[in-house]
Amino acid sequence: MLFKDFSHGITCIDTGYLRPGYAAAYLLVEAGEAVFIETGPGRAVPLLLEVLAQKGLAPEAVRAVIVTHVHLDHAGGAAALLSHLPRAQLLVHPRGLPHLLDPTKLQAGAEAVYGQAQFQRLMGSLTAADPHRTRATGDQECFVLQGRVLTLLHTPGHALHHQCVWDAASGGLFSGDAFGLSYPVLAQGGERLILPATTPVQFDLESSHQSLDRLAALSPRELYLTHFGPIPFEGRLTTQLHHLLEQFAVLAEKHRHESGAEGLTEALQQLLCSRFSGSDEAVVDLCRDWLAMDCALNAQGLLAWLRRLDRDG
Ligand SMILES: [Zn+2]
Repeated sequence: MLFKDFSHGITCIDTGYLRPGYAAAYLLVEAGEAVFIETGPGRAVPLLLEVLAQKGLAPEAVRAVIVTHVHLDHAGGAAALLSHLPRAQLLVHPRGLPHLLDPTKLQAGAEAVYGQAQFQRLMGSLTAADPHRTRATGDQECFVLQGRVLTLLHTPGHALHHQCVWDAASGGLFSGDAFGLSYPVLAQGGERLILPATTPVQFDLESSHQSLDRLAALSPRELYLTHFGPIPFEGRLTTQLHHLLEQFAVLAEKHRHESGAEGLTEALQQLLCSRFSGSDEAVVDLCRDWLAMDCALNAQGLLAWLRRLDRDG
């Protein structure tokens, strides 16, 4: 699937980052005008514009591009997309704003995590966003699209520059990486596995818990995850994420001085995929394969968090 329509004028677009079913962007349409939420990497921009055209909408119909945070699988294409949308503003958390205006640091950071060759293959090129149409949001700020109120909520934890988009009209929460990741392929008995994203370099345990509670208190009907797609909100998801965050922290503490990032990656993979241990081997292999990259990033993020705690006392 390249894109799929859901209710309330919401379309989920597969940005093609890494593999199909991994990273989404959303188009939200209300009475002939539209907002993009997330953009995927720069390579996804032609696809986003194509979906817009297929909906019969001109580039002028797009009033905003909102990114949940400036990690490149979410916002790498934001500046390039904005340049095609003459009436749109780019709305970003204040701590992410400088990085969209000057992506040099972002690129260096991502190259450090992914390596230079893989960065190019995954992300494509990065450009600077137009400063006249890019602005920082406030917590609880509302963006109104043809009478439909989208509320921006600052939700640190995964990153300090993270915000979510609350669409009260549909009960939809566009949660970026603040309410975990859940891939459609990883489900058992109809229940999808959900896992926290403790990615480097700003992951913080305490604020991750707090943001989860803040978001759960909205009682959303639907979570629109960037990784990947809509899932109905249930209380058990919140409980599961809190619990996994605690387990992740315990494993990080255990492995930091023993086996480092590699051992922690393996431990996280085992913890998450043990859920499928009663299933046949192919399912466990699928889980390990799908979560390999996330577990490696989660391990790095957890260790960076512990180092920061030590440093800051
Ligand atoms: Zn992220």
